[in-house]
Amino acid sequence: MRGHTVSTANATALTPAPGSSPGQALSRREREQDSEFAALWHALDQLTDPEIPVVTLQEMGILRDVRRGADGRVEVVITPTYSGCPAMDQIADDVTATLRQQGVDGRVVTQLAPAWTTDWMTPQAREKLRAYGIAPPQCGSTAAGEAVLHFAPGSRGGLSRQRIEVACPQCGSVNTTETSHFGSTACKALYRCLDCMEPFDYFKSI
Ligand SMILES: [Zn+2]
Repeated sequence: MRGHTVSTANATALTPAPGSSPGQALSRREREQDSEFAALWHALDQLTDPEIPVVTLQEMGILRDVRRGADGRVEVVITPTYSGCPAMDQIADDVTATLRQQGVDGRVVTQLAPAWTTDWMTPQAREKLRAYGIAPPQCGSTAAGEAVLHFAPGSRGGLSRQRIEVACPQCGSVNTTETSHFGSTACKALYRCLDCMEPFDYFKSI
């Protein structure tokens, strides 16, 4: 086993695997290492989400690929988090500015399929969101205690209703309630913690 990790990495680098979330970050890194665009990748990795400036586009899973198009021009592929997300124009402008700074003749390609999902957000992005005061989206394979699908007791002991526990980013309490399905932006819901009474945004899971 020892000493054979490099060869498997080379093998997987050849398979794009567009929609697979767990291997997605790794294959992206592998593509970057072999890429003629390593410097551009590095510069693009500094760009942050206009709506949540503490997280980068790479951590959000918005920055998908850097490649050469059929006509030879460099293409930076981005996938919007939500269709109609107003931040996408700003993101495209930021990518264009980075291309210019790097002296690269390129264009931005917006890729809608496969659709972005909150599963593409890295663990770092979730942690940064929480520290920023936004409850991170919950997904199937989560870190301990973050997302608990909860069966609230329904009528007479029946498990009738599913409820998602959203932990307060301030105090960690799951004694929280949704006060508005749309928070500061369409992709967030407004919650209030019933223990520390602080309102907060919850980044909805999609
Ligand atoms: Zn709280």
